[in-house]
Amino acid sequence: MRYNARQLSRLLLDWYDRNRRAFPWRALPGETADPYRVWLSEIMLQQTGTATVISYFNKFITRWPTVHTLAKAELDDVLTAWAGLGYYARARNLHRCAQIISSEMAGEFPCDLAALQKLPGIGPYTASAISAIAFNRAGPVLDGNIERVLSRLYRVTAPLPGSKPELRNLSLALIDCARPGDMAQAMMDLGAAVCTPRGPDCTHCAWRKPCMANALNCAESLPVKPARRQSPTRVGAVFWLVREDGAVLLRRRPERGLLGGMMEFPGTPWRDEIEDIAQHMPAACNWRALPGAVRHVFTHFKLELAVYTGACSCMSSVDGIWVKPESFHDFALPAVMRKVAAHVQSQHP
Ligand code: SF4
Repeated sequence: MRYNARQLSRLLLDWYDRNRRAFPWRALPGETADPYRVWLSEIMLQQTGTATVISYFNKFITRWPTVHTLAKAELDDVLTAWAGLGYYARARNLHRCAQIISSEMAGEFPCDLAALQKLPGIGPYTASAISAIAFNRAGPVLDGNIERVLSRLYRVTAPLPGSKPELRNLSLALIDCARPGDMAQAMMDLGAAVCTPRGPDCTHCAWRKPCMANALNCAESLPVKPARRQSPTRVGAVFWLVREDGAVLLRRRPERGLLGGMMEFPGTPWRDEIEDIAQHMPAACNWRALPGAVRHVFTHFKLELAVYTGACSCMSSVDGIWVKPESFHDFALPAVMRKVAAHVQSQHP
């Protein structure tokens, strides 16, 4: 039997009504979704999984319960609260977007795709997700979970990302129903809980009968991914300069570029080969290289940092600010710099 879109959506929504995941940003059945919560969660979820996002979302919503309160926050406070989620340009765009919604739109998020996409940090996917989930508008919502589920349901064998237009059309056809927001969330939940990348639980899946990949026993081979390119490794050195009172030198990264506006320990640029490190030392002192290195993986490259420690008695002759390690949490230190701090402290307990 061939299933039409209406039958497929009914099967999935029945399952969703019994198995939907509870998230702090999700409206309960019968409730109206809060666009601020939906937007905040979608920005956080752009590169991060739900398990990690929950605690960040709760922290933000407790501190800034409305878009107006977030708009009035200091950017540094937002960056500090964001630390650990990575991709700090998202936090800067989040803050800018809140200011626009608060000051130019009276705190009301727009509901249509074109208006949403004009806002900072909202691309086509996020706009579709907000429009569907917060405003129950039909649109093409396609995250990694949904791509996997649809690739299997319809046995799409063209590799990603080339198959995205086909998947987009399939998703559009499927969500042509009275509950587009629930349909999008149902596919996300099915992908997260049942149609998992490895070992999908086809036996208990709402779509086990219509699913072509299940019928042909090829679910795990889909979606077809492009061959991975090896990401390059960059290297650098970082300097942990301690003052007599135990404070450590921090400086702010340039506003534009990777980790823009975040704090860091002074160091060399990150390049394919180590630079002449002496010219980047923040002060003349007796520098000592620590054994080992700090490693961190960014989206497009891996980083290896050599760490040097030094002590000085200078109070004002270096660029940056002095911060005691117990106060680092008050500053927007990205994960890689937290690793540097942990590396130093593990050797100077
Ligand atoms: Fe995924 Fe299996 Fe369900 Fe098909 S039947 S959608 S492969 S879990």
